[in-house]
Amino acid sequence: MPSMSAAPVGFLTHEAEYAPELKAGVCYPWLDGQWKPYHVKMILAPTERWQRRDFSASPVRYFVLGGVTGWQPANAELPRGATDLGVRPGDWNHERCELCPEQLEASRSSEGFIDPDGRWICAHCYDNYAVRSDISFAVGDDATPRQQKP
Ligand SMILES: [Zn+2]
Repeated sequence: MPSMSAAPVGFLTHEAEYAPELKAGVCYPWLDGQWKPYHVKMILAPTERWQRRDFSASPVRYFVLGGVTGWQPANAELPRGATDLGVRPGDWNHERCELCPEQLEASRSSEGFIDPDGRWICAHCYDNYAVRSDISFAVGDDATPRQQKP
């Protein structure tokens, strides 16, 4: 893991065909492990992909799979082998911004932006990153990676 922004790193693999686009001696951006390539892709995509919307509650389908209770959108196909526990209207009542700790909550009609993949970002992150096609969040210049609740 690099300790400075310009620190060189090595990518060692015995299976170079897994990443044929990587070339020796070329500089590539480094993404902290908390960021996924889709975070960068969604911010670099045209802003027309984002739709301004007030977050509202939606139904949740609960299921059990392998002894673990899960949940998903009510209209999604159940995972193979899952036991359906039914739908509860309104249980999906909040969503986290993909880029910062902001929570969009149905109870306060939070305004956010959603992309066609169903990913939400808050208005702050839309203005600061999506509108500007700015991926500085990924190198730690401003946004804080989303935190996991205990
Ligand atoms: Zn945000």
